[in-house]
Amino acid sequence: SNFKSLGLSQNLCEVLDQLGFETPTPIQQQAIPQLLKKNPTDFIGLAQTGTGKTAAFGLPLIDLIDLEDESTQAIIMAPTRELGQQTATQLQSFVTNNRKLNVEVVYGGVDISRQIRALKKPTQIVVATPGRLLDLIKRRAISLDAVQYVVLDEADEMLNMGFKEDIDDIIGYTSEERSVWLFSATMPPEIRRIVDKYMHEPIEVAV
Ligand code: AMP
Repeated sequence: SNFKSLGLSQNLCEVLDQLGFETPTPIQQQAIPQLLKKNPTDFIGLAQTGTGKTAAFGLPLIDLIDLEDESTQAIIMAPTRELGQQTATQLQSFVTNNRKLNVEVVYGGVDISRQIRALKKPTQIVVATPGRLLDLIKRRAISLDAVQYVVLDEADEMLNMGFKEDIDDIIGYTSEERSVWLFSATMPPEIRRIVDKYMHEPIEVAV
C-alpha cells in the first residue's frame, strides 16, 4: 500500500487497509519515514488537528516499540482528556490484533486509584495529561526509566493551559537518550525554548 512505501510494517499496513486508511496525509508522508529511523530523532511537526497527526506519530511508535519489553517505552502528552482519549482510542485501533502491545490513557479529574491499578499491567505506550502523569510518577505508579519516545501533542495548547512546569518535570524523569517528537499548530517563543532545551538538531516539517 501507500503506507508500506513509508516503511511501516506489513502487519500495520494490513490493519490500516482494514480501517480504510488508503492514502497517507501530507504530515504522515513527511513524518513517518523520519520517525521510523532507528537513531534517536527529534522531530517538530507544525500541524493542526484533522491533518492526521495522531497517526503520523502513532504508527511509527507502534512499529518502534519493543514487544519483548514490558516497560513503558513511550509517553504521549496531550492538553485535554478529550484529546488524550481520542489519541489512545486511535492507537488502540491500530494494535487491536496485537495482544503484546498495551496502550493506556490517564488524565486528571477522575479517581486516580483505578489508573494506578491499570498501570500495574505492562503498558508500553501511555497517553496522559501532564498534571495527572506527574502525580502518577510521584506516587511511583509509573516509571519513565525506559522511556525512549516523548511525544508532545498540541504543545502550544499545553503551554496555554499552564503545563510548562509539569512538562519540564516529566521530561526530567526520562533518560537523555530519549527522542522528543513535538507537534504544535503554532510556534510561539515558549515552544522554541522547549525545543532548544530538550531537542538536538530536530527535523522540522510544516503542513
Ligand atoms: P487527527 O488529525 O490525527 O486527529 O486525525 C483526524 C481523523 O482522520 C481521524 O479520525 C483519523 O482516524 C483519520 N485519518 C488520519 N489519517 C488518515 C488517513 N491516511 N486515511 C484516512 N483517515 C485518516
